[in-house]
Amino acid sequence: MLLDGKKIRDRIEKELAHEIHTLKDKPTLAILQVGLREDSTAYINQKRIFAEKIGAFIIHKQYPETVEENEIIHDIHNFNRDSSVHGIILQIPIPEHLNRKLLIDAIDPHKDVDGLSSANTKKLWEKDLTGYIPATTKGILALLEAYKIDIQGKKVVVVGRSTLVGKPTALALLNKNATVTICHSKTENLSQETLQADILIVATGHPLLIKKNFVKPGQIVIDVGINLIKGTKLEEEIPGKKFVGDVDFENVKDIVEAITPVPGGVGPLTVASLFENLLTAYKQSKI
Ligand code: NDP
Repeated sequence: MLLDGKKIRDRIEKELAHEIHTLKDKPTLAILQVGLREDSTAYINQKRIFAEKIGAFIIHKQYPETVEENEIIHDIHNFNRDSSVHGIILQIPIPEHLNRKLLIDAIDPHKDVDGLSSANTKKLWEKDLTGYIPATTKGILALLEAYKIDIQGKKVVVVGRSTLVGKPTALALLNKNATVTICHSKTENLSQETLQADILIVATGHPLLIKKNFVKPGQIVIDVGINLIKGTKLEEEIPGKKFVGDVDFENVKDIVEAITPVPGGVGPLTVASLFENLLTAYKQSKI
């Protein structure tokens, strides 16, 4: 079975548009972008398109690659104080000279709709449901829920331990009573681990890492990876494709029970989940 993220995204989009239509003012998201990375600009455009469809508003603040932390923090503080701005996100990755943690922690936790600040991370760690869950993790939960896939008591293997995807996803699933294993680049015998999974979640940035010897029948496979293959040797091997996942879809799709496509799986739900968080932030700002 194909786990169709676009279909669920479309449903969330309709629900958000319907609700936002009834509001007095528009939920507003400030996006801070440093530099001109092509992939970041593409992700921001996806957010802009989604925002337009649901009636939310985007403020896109761009900085040169050489910007100093102080300048960004100054703007974040202004957005924190501005009651017409409900959410603030820093588009990641940022250049190495900038301290990501310092910048993200400058965002008011109530406006941290990416859920990446220390305050919201602590809430996830402590299973405090008042925090924002990072959008990709929230999207994965939405996908599992939409397809009525049981989490409680299931063996979940997460491949990847990043702060952005792997760790929050593992924690969120632990909070839902899964038995969670986290794998990474130093894991020995990765396939031995992935073969144990009822639900396998892969977020490595390593194109086509998971092949048929890593999976077994009955598994649910969620592929978070989005890898641009332009300019790599995969471009010739897989003609007509711009992106591939971390899972070799063609190789494993006939073995497993269900799998997300790339694109069209987790990606669309990440965007929708971000705007669900924004609407929550908007509503909380009115209390
Ligand atoms: P990071 O590079 O921050 O983290 C990658 C993780 O994967 C690390 O923990 C690393 O291990 C692990 N890893 C890398 N190679 C291997 C390997 N061969 N075997 C086992 N583990 C490995 O990436 P992100 O988490 O930010 O992103 C992962 C992927 O997800 C990327 O393709 C990215 O584009 C995509 N993504 C997709 C989103 C969506 O909406 N669909 C949103 C965000 C990201 P170690 O810690 O040991 O280095």
